[in-house]
Amino acid sequence: MIKTYAYGFPRLGKQREFKRLIEGFWAGKVTEEELLTGIEKLNKKREESYAAHVDNFPRGEMTLYDPMLDTALILGLYRAESLEEYFQLCRGKNALEMTKWFNTNYHYLVPDFEGKRPQFKATVPVWDRHKGVKRNAHLIGPLTFLKLSKNLPEGAFGELLKEVAKTLVDYAVERGFESIHLDDPAFVLELSKEEWKAVEEAYGEFERFPGDVNLFTYYDSVDNLAGLFELPVSGVGVDLVHDRGENLKQLKTVEPGGKKLFAGVIDGRNVWRADLTAKRALLAELAERFEVVATNAAPLFHLPVSLAGATLPEGLLEKVAFAEEKLKELSLIAKGSDQELNSWSKGVGSSFGELKEVRERVQNLKEEDFERKPAYSERVKKQQEVLKLPLFPTTTIGSFPQTEEVRRVRLLYRKGKLSQEDYDTFIRGEIAKAIQIQEELGLDVFVHGEFERTDMVEFFAEKMKGIATTGNGWVISYGTRCYRPPIIYGDVDREGPMTIKEIAFAQSLTDKPVKGMLTGPVTIIAWSFVREDIPTEEVAYQIALALKDEIADYEKAGIKIVQIDEPAIREKAPIKRRNWDDYFRWAVRSFRLCHSSVKPETQIHTHMCYSEFGEIMEYILQMDFDVISIEATRSKGDIIEAFEKVNFDRQIGLGVWDIHSPYVPTVEEMKEIVERALKVIPKENFWINPDCGLKTRRWEEVIPALRNLVALAKELREEQ
Ligand code: GLN
Ligand code: ZN
Repeated sequence: MIKTYAYGFPRLGKQREFKRLIEGFWAGKVTEEELLTGIEKLNKKREESYAAHVDNFPRGEMTLYDPMLDTALILGLYRAESLEEYFQLCRGKNALEMTKWFNTNYHYLVPDFEGKRPQFKATVPVWDRHKGVKRNAHLIGPLTFLKLSKNLPEGAFGELLKEVAKTLVDYAVERGFESIHLDDPAFVLELSKEEWKAVEEAYGEFERFPGDVNLFTYYDSVDNLAGLFELPVSGVGVDLVHDRGENLKQLKTVEPGGKKLFAGVIDGRNVWRADLTAKRALLAELAERFEVVATNAAPLFHLPVSLAGATLPEGLLEKVAFAEEKLKELSLIAKGSDQELNSWSKGVGSSFGELKEVRERVQNLKEEDFERKPAYSERVKKQQEVLKLPLFPTTTIGSFPQTEEVRRVRLLYRKGKLSQEDYDTFIRGEIAKAIQIQEELGLDVFVHGEFERTDMVEFFAEKMKGIATTGNGWVISYGTRCYRPPIIYGDVDREGPMTIKEIAFAQSLTDKPVKGMLTGPVTIIAWSFVREDIPTEEVAYQIALALKDEIADYEKAGIKIVQIDEPAIREKAPIKRRNWDDYFRWAVRSFRLCHSSVKPETQIHTHMCYSEFGEIMEYILQMDFDVISIEATRSKGDIIEAFEKVNFDRQIGLGVWDIHSPYVPTVEEMKEIVERALKVIPKENFWINPDCGLKTRRWEEVIPALRNLVALAKELREEQ
């Protein structure tokens, strides 16, 4: 019988115990002892889930915040003497920077070498994830640790990699581990020859380790799978779900070299049940050449913990599997009868929630549906005639503070304890206040504040056919922060206008233009679980068409500016750059489809919060928006360099206020960013705005910061 293995089971807990314990500790409501015993209990439950279904799993996967930080502490790169110091590295003024983990929506803490060669030393951190662990200890591998760290000293990659590997082995030996589970997904990046050489050198360190080391890769294929099998490890884990067939192809010729193959056949990133009969056949085929262990492809923490209590439309429930059900899939593969496999997988591949009109609409799309006319140079004049904006127009990104009251009232309404009418009145009141504040501050382009939205994707998911929300399907996006990705299961369409009521009301209160505010197709897809029975490209066009209808309704309601947010466009890009062209082709086209038929005088904005902009600039330009607002404060001007290199003829708002911090920037601080940018971007094209939406800030910070922002714009205008 085939052996089974699983890794990366969510740490959150069915009742989000993880969040409650840690946030409780921060708030002083949970003692250190309660925290540690609570986490231990939670981890025990995780391990019980594993043990109920699979033969083996890693130990010591639990963290109090993020495994990359834990690894940095194990290596002695940072020090934390107490839990308070540990959490200071995670949040607050001196915290490490956070960024997206590969092409997922999980954010990790980025170790910073500050350009220096550190003294590594195997250390047992204050939070000891390996307490009591001997067998199959979980560690992040050296390549991933180093590739995902920042500010490495130049030219030292090879030596550092060896030192990291050496220190990890020291740690494992000192702790007396019997075997190691090594998570090293960075092997799926496009590695250079030099990097491979450095890997071979560094991985040589593992020869010193007396027990088994099993090396796991995932999220994509490994370009040099043969090389991976030559490393001194006892087993290799590969992703056979997100590999575009490339891993499988290589496995046909790779020499097993006595190594176990951990065949990742169960998807850890998407919720669809697998065709278990086909998976079993695949495993049997692989078993002809390898000693095979069936496992998940990608860690399971990208999924909600369990389907128990999920509120899904009828018929959908038996098509999906969350983390716990994925474990069950592994056990079924090993032990299930043919009939059990068939009945588990009976819904696989069948379409669900088909909308004929939507299908036809997508099929009938023509090239001109992706082409806005006239060209920017012409339409910009018409827009200016209508909008009459001053030089350096000021605006915000969309949301205003989601105060405790806003959240409380919205929850009452969602629980059915507040009537639609009372809720609408409340939201209108909040919008009116926001408009009044913007009026008093003297901003040029207004927003309605997004008070009615829980989350920029979930809000639209609830208003669209073909997308289900899960009720309790929480997933960690970073630290203790959770979100509930919706499930795009069927053809997507609007039920009717989704946002017009609020935006039109806001516009009725002011003569200043109010921006219509939408979440773009790529972001809706990136932050959801998406169906796989049709190409993602088609899903994107379906969503785009729904947004197109919404924009047409905006125009009818007299809205002159529409912002289509695409903060996830970079994150959704494939890991390997050689696959970027194909992805950005449909990503860009879906954006263009949203706005291709607007009137020339309607101004289209987009917003992205992503700091390494240079690498995607050529694609961004093709989106053909009129104005883009992006983050600039945290990237310290790197973005501006990116603009130097291309002929960027659109308007741009470089964020001058880092809204991720409660700090209120002064006029001078904001001006510094603008002055640097004005060397590259013509002043006629320059907007003044914050980095991102303001929903996590408090009004006490927002009002003074925006006052400074408006003062800055005035000062700049006077200097011209
Ligand atoms: N319009 C959204 C807001 O202001 C944009 C959020 C985002 O970029 N993540 O909240
Ligand atoms: Zn943003």
